[in-house]
This record gives sequence, structure tokens and C-alpha cells, in this order.
Amino acid sequence: MSTHSAMVEARGIHKSFGSLDVLKGVDLEVRAGEVTVVLGPSGSGKSTLLRTLNHLEKVDSGTVRVNGELVGYRRSGNRLHELRERDILKQRTQIGFVFQNFHLFPHLTVLENLVEAPVAALRRPRKDAVAGARALLDRVGLADKADAYPRTLSGGQQQRVAIARALALEPKLLLFDEPTSALDPELVGEVLDVIKDLAHRGTTMIVVTHEIGFAREVADTVVFMDGGRIVEQGPPGQVLDHPRHARTKSFLSKVL
Ligand code: ADP
Ligand code: MG
Repeated sequence: MSTHSAMVEARGIHKSFGSLDVLKGVDLEVRAGEVTVVLGPSGSGKSTLLRTLNHLEKVDSGTVRVNGELVGYRRSGNRLHELRERDILKQRTQIGFVFQNFHLFPHLTVLENLVEAPVAALRRPRKDAVAGARALLDRVGLADKADAYPRTLSGGQQQRVAIARALALEPKLLLFDEPTSALDPELVGEVLDVIKDLAHRGTTMIVVTHEIGFAREVADTVVFMDGGRIVEQGPPGQVLDHPRHARTKSFLSKVL
């Protein structure tokens, strides 16, 4: 496959925790502008895979490239050397990460949550960062919450702030790890709507979720993981409606 349009190119990813093999040789390719939804049972390695993509987890073997750039390492000859912390942090600014539990800074207002990273990491002038933050809050429907503290918001609002905060760094890639799993059911829709809007704007995203309807509507590719491997992947109409593998069928019969 051509590597040129690949935003994410993970090859042969292995990761163990002690004697537990969590990723057993994962290859993943995500083209620019596409949405990949990752499904799979609890413990199958979905979060670990996402975390290797921005070097929150170091791989034991294999390589990850994002936008053509090796993540976490530099190559000299045929050896890989781990990047210095500062360079890892710099790479991470290109990859937005949205967690299940929002992870907002509790001591900062909503606006300050969005302003902090562009000023500190990208050295944006504060005035520009504030203007950018206000525009993003408007986009996720929270312009009126700029001066509120996270704890005063609903879970759905907090997650929309977290998404806006990720966008404030203008990442090339957005990773979502079960972004609606911690929400009351009536708040899931407002968060999925924001993610759908991003999809329509051509944002490259990998979304771990159990929301099959969302996957059907938004995903270009659905990836099913089990036991540290990608068991099956393809367009939603194939993987969700005509799964080939017994494990995919069995999983879907439980979540649908
Ligand atoms: P999923 O997101 O699909 O539920 P995870 O990637 O979180 O799966 O976890 C896969 C397996 O790896 C689980 O058995 C989990 O307990 C284990 N695991 C994940 N992170 C760690 C860690 N930091 N230390 C030890 N075990 C871990
Ligand atoms: Mg997980």
C-alpha cells in the first residue's frame, strides 16, 4: 500500500506488561481524512494500541509513523534511538488524545484549559490562543461556559471541552478512547455529534467505542480487535453486517 497518504502507519506492534502479551503484532494504517473505529472486548488491547500511537506506551517492537514521522524514535543507520522527552512531547502536540474520563485540569476554567497548551507548548501569543479557544468553545456549543470550572459542568459538557482542548493544538490526528463510556446515556448524543462534525470536516481520527450506530454512520474503516490482534477490518457494511470471523460475530451479537 502507498505510504504517502497514510496518516498513521503502525507495523508489527508488540507490547507486553510483564508476562502478559497485550499487543501481539498489530499492523494498522489510517489514511488522512479518514475515521477508523476500533471495536473489541474489554482487555483486547484497544487502549494500549491507542497509547502506543503517541508514545504514551513504549512498544517492545514495531514502529509507528504519524504523518510520515517515526513516533518516539529516530533512526540512525538501522538502529532506533528513543527521542528525548522534549522531542516526544513536541510530537505529542500533533496527536490529540481524548480520554474516557475527560482529564480536564480541575483548577483551571474551561477557557484556561484550552489556552494552556497552545501557549506553553506551541508558544502561541496568549491573545491568539484565547481567540482560538473561544472559537473552539463556540464550535462545541459551550461559548457560555468559558469562565466555568470543569466540576460545574455535566459529563457531556466536560467531554466537549476535552475535545475542544485537543483541537486547540491543531493536531494532525485525534485519538478517542471510549469518549462516551463514562457518560449518562442521555449525554452520549451531544458528544457523538461533536465527533461527527469533526469527521465531516475531514479530521483524521481513531475512535475506540462501543457505539455501533456511530461506527456505521461515520467510520470509513471498522477494526475489530481480540486478544491483542486485529481479527478483522474493513468498511462498516462489511465488518458490522457481514463479519467473517466467529469472534466478531459473537462480539457484535452482544453489543448490538
Ligand atoms: P482494552 O482497552 O481493550 O480494554 P487494554 O489495552 O486497556 O484493553 O488492556 C489490555 C490488557 O493489558 C488488559 O489485560 C490490561 O489489564 C493490561 N494492561 C493494560 N495496561 C497495563 C499496565 N500499565 N500494566 C499492566 N497491565 C496492563
Ligand atoms: Mg480500553
